[in-house]
Amino acid sequence: MSSDARFQHGFTTRAIHAGQEPDPTTGAVTMPVHFTSTYKQDGVGGLRGGYEYSRSANPTRTALQEALAALEQGSTGMAFASGLAAEDALLRTVCAPGDHVVLPGDAYGGTFRLVSKVYARWGVEYTPVDLADLDAVQAAIRPTTRLVWCETPTNPLLNIADIAGLAAVAHGAGALLAVDNTFASPYLQQPLTLGADVVVHSTTKYLGGHSDVVGGALVTADASLGEQLAFSQNAMGAVAGPMDAWLVLRGIKTLGVRMEAHQANAARIAEFLTAHPAVSSVLWPGLPDHPGHDVAAKQMSGFGGMLSFRLAGGEEAALRVCERATVFTLAESLGGVESLIEHPGRMTHASAAGSPLEVPADLVRLSVGIEDAEDLLADLEQALAP
Ligand SMILES: *Cc1c(COP(=O)(O)O)cnc(C)c1O
Repeated sequence: MSSDARFQHGFTTRAIHAGQEPDPTTGAVTMPVHFTSTYKQDGVGGLRGGYEYSRSANPTRTALQEALAALEQGSTGMAFASGLAAEDALLRTVCAPGDHVVLPGDAYGGTFRLVSKVYARWGVEYTPVDLADLDAVQAAIRPTTRLVWCETPTNPLLNIADIAGLAAVAHGAGALLAVDNTFASPYLQQPLTLGADVVVHSTTKYLGGHSDVVGGALVTADASLGEQLAFSQNAMGAVAGPMDAWLVLRGIKTLGVRMEAHQANAARIAEFLTAHPAVSSVLWPGLPDHPGHDVAAKQMSGFGGMLSFRLAGGEEAALRVCERATVFTLAESLGGVESLIEHPGRMTHASAAGSPLEVPADLVRLSVGIEDAEDLLADLEQALAP
């Protein structure tokens, strides 16, 4: 893949330029937002640049899709209305009734809900497994397994799965490996280069990066899977609109510098929390005693800006920290420039209560933003004070 001419430039050069040549008629340096549903034809069937109707293709979305493919080193990028719309297009293209999917034991709650509540009704079966245990993944494989679904790092426990190992297990069984790369972003991890078949993103998070848009993406390694999914994207219709595509396109230009700032702040916070008496454990793959540290160091170029920690004082203490923080905003979602704090048990993962995906009640999740580290540390210090 990396010998492809499109990937000859560095990551941030690709983020700024891939799919975004200056406009040939006006010279505009940034991609315009093409607010149009349809396109004039020069004679019947005479399309200019292949555009006929904006569900099928829109130039702003095309630019984003090319940029996404370039960042993930894939053949085909597709932009959707949300991360879950992208997941839906993938699952419905790859799975038919009677097929089986292996899911992460701590999958993103929306992914688990989509498979367990929507697809289960259509006869798609699933098994949640600890993806860090390749033998357990192998044991969960059935003759009907079509897809192994991976998240690494996971939400909110920051568990790490070995992408190359999972690709070998999935391919040995004739299944595809899908990796939800939302937490790492392509700046830190490029699953297609490690053997994954398709990458999934909630572009709402780090790719958009400014908490101002909801979007999703798929990128495939292989052009023929890309063609099948692009057919579904048009046939099912949950495409990204031009304004949303433009916001993500703008966001990814600074992905590299933002990720460096996110993870530098996360490293400072991990060190601070590890030494704090009110904190019983810190979950961040950059810590040498994190169980996934070695695999993360092998397959990621950095450890990212998501960090969770557990409170010695239990759920009450966890809720108190969330409510006392002021620079950290109490909110769901992640990946924006501003720091967020949340209580997964009562917020993002409340729907997992009583399921195999239930999270500890004493857990707090941080999406570490790019504010000044001193302000973030001081805020946590006062929020954790007795
Ligand atoms: C947010 C998120 C999704 C879902 O994306 P939406 O844009 O909210 O539909 C999927 N996976 C992960 C890891 C997420 O954080």
